[in-house]
Amino acid sequence: MTTTVQRAHTIGSESAQPQTILIAGQWSGATASIPVIAPATGQSLGSISRGRTQDVDAAVKAARHALNAGEWGTVTPEVRGRLLVSLSRKVLEQLEPLAQIEAADTGKPLALARADIRALARYFEYYGGAADKFHGDVIPFDSRYNVSVQRVPLGVTAHIIPWNYPAQMLGRSISPALAMGNAVVLKPAEDACMSCLAVADLAAQVGFPPGAINVVTGLGEEAGAALSAHPDVNLVTFTGSCEVGALVQIAAAKHHVPVTLELGGKSPQIVFEDADLQAAAASVIKSITQNAGQTCSAGSRVLIQRSVVEPFMAHLTRGLQALRIGVPEDDADLGPVINARQQSRITRMIEECRAEGVPILTELELPVGLPPGGFYVSPIIFGPVDPHHRIAQEEVFGPVLCALIFEDEDEAIEIANGTDYGLVAGIWTKDGDRMARMAKKVHVGQVFINCYGAGGGVELPFGGMKHSGHGREKGLAGLEEMSTTKTVVHFHQ
Ligand code: NAP
Ligand code: MG
Repeated sequence: MTTTVQRAHTIGSESAQPQTILIAGQWSGATASIPVIAPATGQSLGSISRGRTQDVDAAVKAARHALNAGEWGTVTPEVRGRLLVSLSRKVLEQLEPLAQIEAADTGKPLALARADIRALARYFEYYGGAADKFHGDVIPFDSRYNVSVQRVPLGVTAHIIPWNYPAQMLGRSISPALAMGNAVVLKPAEDACMSCLAVADLAAQVGFPPGAINVVTGLGEEAGAALSAHPDVNLVTFTGSCEVGALVQIAAAKHHVPVTLELGGKSPQIVFEDADLQAAAASVIKSITQNAGQTCSAGSRVLIQRSVVEPFMAHLTRGLQALRIGVPEDDADLGPVINARQQSRITRMIEECRAEGVPILTELELPVGLPPGGFYVSPIIFGPVDPHHRIAQEEVFGPVLCALIFEDEDEAIEIANGTDYGLVAGIWTKDGDRMARMAKKVHVGQVFINCYGAGGGVELPFGGMKHSGHGREKGLAGLEEMSTTKTVVHFHQ
């Protein structure tokens, strides 16, 4: 590892107080620490500091100070953009060590970790380029008035991110906030935050002033709860579970603080009889097994038109059986899930279905030779499944696909929209009119037609409907989310 990613330094060391809390440009530790476990092996990677309420409070104060009295509040949009672009370049320079860290911390295949780091760099580049181009408006009004609508930062923004794509989530969340001139406080997930710490180091190296970016590692129910309940935060962004999303919203509501929530989904991939079945099946398998199924937008339900159930299921079976599972260095199709808790949660859901007799289309055996302490789960496809069964309703967040059958477009829409979630949908058909009808009727934030996902999709506004959350990230919508407007009305004779 090179020195630029030495933030992992303190994690890897035997230090009693790993220096993983960044406040006003200074790294510090806390009296208690949290072990960091490699999901691929179950072995220790060191520990991070368990930041408490007082650390969160100090981080919020540092962010506020950076805006009101520090250098960050005076930095022009041009310079903010340049800093973000510099950070993007720095991240690309450090692509390999950052990818190694991300892969070790999350257990994901190295190729995926590299793609994640490229997406992280792209976030900084995209929002760096936009920092001085997202401005306000002038409204023609009565001729004696000059009316401008100015885009202004919100102030201190709080970012609570999950462990599934730590680097990407960091980029998605903090880069639009920084582009708009906010000062940020990040609470990464306790299960995977090493890349976030390394990036915070790189940000200081490229010249982000103290207090612009503050990081408090810790437990969700301590540091995360303290951050979402802090009275001097101006926006909380949260990605994670519905349950915690509601807690964050309740805490923030006490101070009338707006919240951006991204809470996962049970996204449908809808396959019509005229689709390219082979291409659709390959995409369906990839979208539920990439990152071991731990992707908010995973296509976890495949809806198959009855007339093509047999050939399509054969494609699915072949696709699943061809997958390789391995440690990050194997660059297999998927690795372990994040921790023992998620492993047993997913396994329990699978075993309950098996015991109830939910039909199993196919399942993969774990290969021999995987590290015994790793948190591996064999991918499985249930089907045909009753659309109302809980395995077809609840987010599993593992490599578990449900195959459902429909007769016609109306039934496809009823099933697709028949969960509490509404994040993403995939539509597979060659009929252009049908594409348009279906895209209009699915209640989701993103629709993919004859494809699913778009790499990092940094340019593409993303977010949920219904229980999948509210607010939008990515694209220029992310800049709107991270700012507000001030209307200035100037009367003149
Ligand atoms: P989670 O508890 O919702 O964690 C997400 C983030 O929130 C983490 O940074 C977590 O910190 C923090 N957090 C936890 N409790 C908090 C609280 N009371 N107040 C403020 N922040 C808090 O998710 P999880 O337990 O890791 O995973 C459980 C399920 O959530 C998964 O099975 C999946 O269904 C869903 N999930 C969805 C996404 C997504 O991308 N939409 C991502 C992750 C999980 P700590 O990690 O330090 O506790
Ligand atoms: Mg870890």
